[in-house]
Amino acid sequence: MSAPGIVIVGAGQAGLQVAVSLREAGFAEPVTLVGDEGLPYQRPPLSKAYLAGKTDAMGLSLRPASYFAEHGIAHRAHVTATAIVRETRHLHLSDGTDLAYDHLVLATGARNRALAVPGADLAGVHQLRALADADALKAALNGARAIAIVGAGFIGLEFAGICAGRGIPVTVIEAAERPMARAVSADTADFFTRAHTDAGIRFAFGSGVRAIEGDAGRAAAVRLGDGSVVAADLILIGIGVVANQELAEAAGLTVGDGIHTDAFLSTSDPTISALGDCARVPSRFAEGEAVRIESVQNAVDQGRCLAARLTGRPSAYAAVPWFWSDQGPHKLQIAGLTRSGDTSVVRPQSTGLSVFRYRDGHLAAVETVDRPADHMAARRILGLGLPLSPQDAADPGHDLKALAKGA
Ligand code: FAD
Ligand code: NAP
Repeated sequence: MSAPGIVIVGAGQAGLQVAVSLREAGFAEPVTLVGDEGLPYQRPPLSKAYLAGKTDAMGLSLRPASYFAEHGIAHRAHVTATAIVRETRHLHLSDGTDLAYDHLVLATGARNRALAVPGADLAGVHQLRALADADALKAALNGARAIAIVGAGFIGLEFAGICAGRGIPVTVIEAAERPMARAVSADTADFFTRAHTDAGIRFAFGSGVRAIEGDAGRAAAVRLGDGSVVAADLILIGIGVVANQELAEAAGLTVGDGIHTDAFLSTSDPTISALGDCARVPSRFAEGEAVRIESVQNAVDQGRCLAARLTGRPSAYAAVPWFWSDQGPHKLQIAGLTRSGDTSVVRPQSTGLSVFRYRDGHLAAVETVDRPADHMAARRILGLGLPLSPQDAADPGHDLKALAKGA
């Protein structure tokens, strides 16, 4: 068995950040990063620049291979952690070895939700989570004659934006009545419905999928719940993710749509922490309710927060959540957490869009499209809890930057 120290399971954005921040904080004990993929890489470009051919695999890398040796981080690539034995504090790994830990970090991320309909496994049906998925999708895009995208979430709409303008018919099939229904307001959703429609993309809202139909073993069409058919030889499924929590669950940790932690990212076992896409963490931006956030900012900031605790500087996780999404020519940015029931105030502006979301009288989130200055001001206003009334938010003469800067 290896020497104990901190063992991190999952070499993605969150797991890597813990290792990097531990070393930056001067942590001198062993750090081992166990991951079932290769070198840690960024996922966001997979549905953006990488798919559009504007960057290559090298451009996705978060650290070169040499970084790990130089910083004394043992990177066990292409190895899966298969079980946690809490009594003796060690892990079983898929290569048949065991690994002891003093503290274990679970950064296992999430995987795509499967579409449970007949034909979902036909050739021509794709998903997008990993580099290999992006390579397969990129190759398929070249010969595609008609594209169907199931799910008008971030993946679906970013992919639709890449496809637009290639002259290939694209239909987005969505169960809800508007895109990104859970993540953004109706105002922002309407902006993107219009923009994508203007770019030639067809939407089928309020539509379930009954089956994917094949021809000679390849996908040829999507049969919708109402019996109608969307012809497509390339189909992308983007219907959300599920947390990789099985390892934690089998070890008896508290789980439920994510591995439950306290505000310090500690699980129900104080020798095990969790963070990133796989973790459900109390948030001051959700009135203290535990939330599972799927974003790079969340993975990175939780990584820093956890490394600080593990090196003797504990603090509750309190960073302002923020996201971005590039769809066609437009950049959507969100600061804070939008929830259904929040009210919207749209700031009148000549270009782009800024929507201020209020909950119980306080500013809860700000969604902007092509308004980076408003987004940056909003992050600061939300982080510091500065007062911004709905009247001031709706007044284009009210200087948000000055409010944010003046604090
Ligand atoms: P992951 O990146 O999923 O890393 C977890 C790693 O753990 C994976 O490599 C997984 O294979 C591995 N693992 C799981 N179980 C085990 C095990 N038992 N043993 C060993 N290894 C294991 N976010 C944004 O904020 N903005 C964007 O624009 C954006 N675009 C995105 C585009 C795409 C196509 C995708 C897929 C995601 C995008 N995201 C975006 C989301 C963002 O990438 C994730 O929130 C982020 O990667 C989460 O990091 P993580 O480390 O928690 O999880
Ligand atoms: P997502 O953003 O959660 O969107 C999934 C969409 O599919 C939702 O609108 C969902 O509606 C809908 N849906 C669910 N089941 C469906 C069904 N059977 N038929 C039709 N529509 C259905 O997830 P995603 O786009 O798949 O992205 C996956 C992951 O990548 C997420 O973690 C996401 O955050 C991340 N990602 C992030 C970005 C970004 O932040 N810019 C970009 C790309 C990917 P309901 O909500 O009503 O279920």
